[in-house]
Amino acid sequence: MSILLRNGHVIPGDGGPELPETDVLTEGGVITAIGKDLPHPADTRIDASGMVVMPGLVDAHRHVWQAPLRGIGADMTLPDYLGMVLGRVLAAFRPEDARLAALLGAAEALDSGVTSVFDWSNTTVTPEHTEAVLDGYAAGGLRVVVGHTVPARKANLQRLAGMDGLISGGLAILGPQYGSWNDGVREIALARELGLPVSMHASGGPDSPFPRMYEAGLLGPDLNLVHMNAMTPAEARMLADAGVAVTVTPVVEATMGHGTSAFGTFLDAGGHAALGTDVVVNAPADLFEPMRDTLRFERMRSRTMYPAAQVLSNATVHGARSIGLGGKTGSLTVGKRADIIVLDGLSQPSGGGVVTALTPANVHTVLVDGRVVKRHGHLVHHDLTALRTAGIELAHRTLA
Ligand SMILES: [Zn+2]
Repeated sequence: MSILLRNGHVIPGDGGPELPETDVLTEGGVITAIGKDLPHPADTRIDASGMVVMPGLVDAHRHVWQAPLRGIGADMTLPDYLGMVLGRVLAAFRPEDARLAALLGAAEALDSGVTSVFDWSNTTVTPEHTEAVLDGYAAGGLRVVVGHTVPARKANLQRLAGMDGLISGGLAILGPQYGSWNDGVREIALARELGLPVSMHASGGPDSPFPRMYEAGLLGPDLNLVHMNAMTPAEARMLADAGVAVTVTPVVEATMGHGTSAFGTFLDAGGHAALGTDVVVNAPADLFEPMRDTLRFERMRSRTMYPAAQVLSNATVHGARSIGLGGKTGSLTVGKRADIIVLDGLSQPSGGGVVTALTPANVHTVLVDGRVVKRHGHLVHHDLTALRTAGIELAHRTLA
């Protein structure tokens, strides 16, 4: 199966320049050529004239199971959220609910041009729930790292560690800042034994455990620290030196009052933060708003015209690297898997235009692993309206 995306404004996302009126060829799920007027009799030809062709967006931190709860928590504080969502609603989630939520979340991600997600999967509380989440994703068509919560049965984690296709595994831990040092160290060691990336929420700051981890040689590129709103410049340098990934979720962080995004502090230290949506109880399910928030915060903070197009790399190549998928996706590079989006709506296609002016409504075509999952603005394999209706029923039942 080969697909030729014809004559688009190609943004490779690998640090190279934007390429006007250029073709991208995919064969067997892999990007095999990028160039002008590629002479190839592809099975499918997609005219991308006047549109942006770029890597699919990477959401490095989303609690996908909350997809049915969109907008229920506009004024929720963190304690409200912990009690209501992570308390009551999660306790009422049955395996079949976890399946539906994964499928709805996957469909919403694809619809908005997100082709890869790290799912911080609080719902993996029993083997049956984990099975249901994996089943939902098997029907989803999204590239996803399922971040299993702990404690977990080792057999479950070993199974995830053996998955290397569209679905792969990770560990979602409390971590040594919000949990205990000993648990954190033990869980990171377990993840390393199994080769799984590890994600944890953290604020950083003067009392954070990360300097101690640095001293103990425990920091590495397989760790993804989410939020880090209190991160100090010295801490940022230490984390950047150790190659640790930092993911910011600026929309939720501002809405819930966690604090200013750590994006700029990490950038000053030579680090490149990944972006996440986090939760849809009080934020949209797409990465356009986190990208725009990041640009606005950074221009205000640095008092410079930080280049808009630069933010695209945080939502693509840096995001992919931060969740262990850097070798597979995150840029239009020959040899990588074909996770590609085509965006319309710009008078003059450019990366900066994507960041400043587009919305999910401009996501025209989406390919994941060389398979067309959205075309002409519509999902090919999912009935989003029906999934949302089922999700609303789920929300009403679990909130009751
Ligand atoms: Zn989170």
